[in-house]
Amino acid sequence: MTSICTAPDCGRTLDTKSTRRLCHRCASRLTAQLHELQWQLPHLHACLYPDRSPTTGSIHGGRAHSPLPARGDVLNLLGAGSNSTLADPYDEARGDQDGPIPVDTMLRGWAEALAAHIRLAPAPWRRPGHTWVAWHIAYLPWTLTAEWAGLFHQELTDVLAHVRRITHTEPQRHVQDAPCPSCEAFGLVDEDWANYIECVVCGTLLTRNEYQTHARRVLPALHRIALQLVMAGTTTKDPDP
Ligand SMILES: [Zn+2]
Ligand SMILES: [Zn+2]
Repeated sequence: MTSICTAPDCGRTLDTKSTRRLCHRCASRLTAQLHELQWQLPHLHACLYPDRSPTTGSIHGGRAHSPLPARGDVLNLLGAGSNSTLADPYDEARGDQDGPIPVDTMLRGWAEALAAHIRLAPAPWRRPGHTWVAWHIAYLPWTLTAEWAGLFHQELTDVLAHVRRITHTEPQRHVQDAPCPSCEAFGLVDEDWANYIECVVCGTLLTRNEYQTHARRVLPALHRIALQLVMAGTTTKDPDP
């Protein structure tokens, strides 16, 4: 029997030789999400106090109301919160939670789920100074074998959407020059934090080395054709003497 990737709305079949519960593409995206979140969190912290500009020292510099000490939406994401998705599948404990689940709470919840999945220890812990994101990056190979890996991927997608809206930063997508080796569309995109270059048309994944080899093979011929087309264009446009 073939198994299906556990990410919602994916539907791709899983590699039968692997114990992963996510397809190659979703596993690669989840990896990129954790790396992006690690990069985003300091930016989110920086957004906590929106207006640090001096408003005192001049009678013209004051405001009509006392300033908020910190942004509420950022505080919601960075603050303490209750419970994780697996321990609270019906969202009951989060009922008193305003807005999205705080990032740390979410990650700690999944860390607990992972500890139970691999029978690691009664409670996961993190080394001083290390973040829960770093913890998850370290334990990623085990996460990919968990039945709930797709749910974690989904929750990271939601959290990152909130974080990106606040920090106004999101991964840059770089369209590649060479066409996709599978579908021949010009759909190959290299996105920040992604392990692979992905075809947005057919979903093919290439490592950067694979892309370089492919590009070296096909680009010279394509450039020649492009040059011939330009030349043909200029010749036909030339007025007859
Ligand atoms: Zn998938
Ligand atoms: Zn393609």
